[in-house]
Amino acid sequence: MPQISTVLGPVDVDRIERVMIHEHLYIDLSHPGDPDAKLTDTEAVVTDAAALRSHGCNTVVEVTCTGMGQNLQRLQDIARRTGLHIVAAAGFYYERWHPRWVREASPEVIEEYLLRQLVDGVPVEGGDPPVVRPGIVAEIGTSDPISPQEEKVLRAAARAARRAGVPLSTHAHLGSNGLRQLEILLEEGVPPHRIAIGHQDLLDDIDVHKAIASTGAYVQYDTVGKERYQSDDVRIRLVREMIEAGYGDRLMLSVDISRHAYLTSRGGHGYAYLFERFLPRLRGVGLDDAAIEALVRDNPRRFLGGDEA
Ligand SMILES: [Zn+2]
Repeated sequence: MPQISTVLGPVDVDRIERVMIHEHLYIDLSHPGDPDAKLTDTEAVVTDAAALRSHGCNTVVEVTCTGMGQNLQRLQDIARRTGLHIVAAAGFYYERWHPRWVREASPEVIEEYLLRQLVDGVPVEGGDPPVVRPGIVAEIGTSDPISPQEEKVLRAAARAARRAGVPLSTHAHLGSNGLRQLEILLEEGVPPHRIAIGHQDLLDDIDVHKAIASTGAYVQYDTVGKERYQSDDVRIRLVREMIEAGYGDRLMLSVDISRHAYLTSRGGHGYAYLFERFLPRLRGVGLDDAAIEALVRDNPRRFLGGDEA
């Protein structure tokens, strides 16, 4: 039985139910221009995320990585208090958030840094267990256009993911350059079924999504409910078109909660929005239960577990 690594230890893949494939439970991207770009109120996060359990969702892939305020001790705390399996990430975001040392580092040094995290784990001060092994390389970011620094990190991340045998998912800025990300990852030898290209719902271009899926890689519509960036009407149309084109086994959904304002208690849509509001709308346009469950359970399980099908 394949296992996935979580912040509280390994879990058999067959114990994974519904999955949120691209989320944040603790993140800090605040800066003087946007002091609220953070999710550090763990009490509020626990309350919001705990609602997932009543929708049969027991796993959250937490893609906050180095440079984004990752806090593995808080993730362990949230996992214990919600009962959620939380998969932590190793990686770097887009160039603006790269640590200074990454700018100077060779691709080999970056690859080795990520590989050590994936293989040996990351020590957690006061943690239980005291070491966490990330289960995914994410959210590897690129801007538009992709900068040379970002390409360097993407290639290094690809090599580390391939060597460690873990999946990799990306942040494609506003959906841009997903095909180029995929091309680079494939060049570096990552198997397509271990690749997920992120934020594609922000790019209303079904041909790009089909091209990604046709290689065997996954497409993420992972900002569901962020209507200021894209309307859910568009997302529903995209989901339906992908399924009708035969790519329902290559698509995954999430809501990418990334600041307090998105929590239900602060007037936002919250983690459970996906199950409470969005999935019923998919049913409403005629998609059947099997097609919908693929998006939130079967596909993430295959992606995380390494099943090539
Ligand atoms: Zn994100």
